[in-house]
Amino acid sequence: MNPTRNCGRSPGLARPLCFFVFLFSCAFLPAAFAQSCGSDGVAVQVLGSGGPELQDKRASSSYLVWKDGRARVLVDAGGGSALRFGESGAQMSDLDVLLFTHFHVDHSGDFSVLIKSSWFEDRKRPLPIYGPEGNDFMPSTKEFAYDLFGENRGAYRYLSELLVPGEEGSYKMQPHNVTGTAKPVEVFRGGDFTVYSVRVLHGRVPSLAWRIEAGGKRMVFSGDTNGDDPALTQLAMNADLFVAHNAVPEGATGIERNLHMPPSVIGQIAADAHVKHLVLSHRMLRTLGKENQTRTEIQKRYSGPMEFANDLDCFPVR
Ligand SMILES: [Zn+2]
Repeated sequence: MNPTRNCGRSPGLARPLCFFVFLFSCAFLPAAFAQSCGSDGVAVQVLGSGGPELQDKRASSSYLVWKDGRARVLVDAGGGSALRFGESGAQMSDLDVLLFTHFHVDHSGDFSVLIKSSWFEDRKRPLPIYGPEGNDFMPSTKEFAYDLFGENRGAYRYLSELLVPGEEGSYKMQPHNVTGTAKPVEVFRGGDFTVYSVRVLHGRVPSLAWRIEAGGKRMVFSGDTNGDDPALTQLAMNADLFVAHNAVPEGATGIERNLHMPPSVIGQIAADAHVKHLVLSHRMLRTLGKENQTRTEIQKRYSGPMEFANDLDCFPVR
């Protein structure tokens, strides 16, 4: 019997049982989830391995880069990722930089949740935030921050002290717009990290892929893309870890294919870029359950190690 599935539906005597199962589970959850990712060296932790659909039972896109026991870089903050952030043991006060690939909800929905939580931490230094420029369809990174926390029109303007220069009371976010480029460009350097970006194609949505270098290791995050721009292959060249988004199955057509790369494209990019370790994330209802087909398509082109991500998975980068 699956207690999660039955709780709330079971009539009569089953309910008290469900309640105690729930209590028992909760008593042990924190210990089970308390992880020590990246306690030694560099590691990538998946906070959200799912897409926008809640029925995939995964948090939406979000990744942490750990170094020497501290979470230092956050890539995206999709729905559910703030809870996973807490479960991972990370601290907002430890972050050197926050990177957005784009501003679809499943990549940015928990941003305000993380920022609110950080207000209770003892952060003094600014938090640099980098993400794409805007267009008539999507806000820029600066607009996104001000739409939420700006002092006049921000939805959460009661927290404007976290953004607006001159307001006293807390550390400051520092949002920056990054122009997507065809060749990797250095965007940020600090705290042992160097960060590069390129543009990627994701419909009408200005989108970036990110490469994070630390301790002589390269970690690359595709974000959402159809994989048609060769810039991603350049960014991923010789990556020690490449996190690619498995949002559509092989044979996808129409809008799905226009927005996302099928397994054959992921495999080709991983092969062309000589990627050392491939992790597949952004798993959706249309790709979950098709792992064998996905693996087969990728292995026709790429022969290196490959894994399917789950929430809170930790991948040491060696
Ligand atoms: Zn997405």
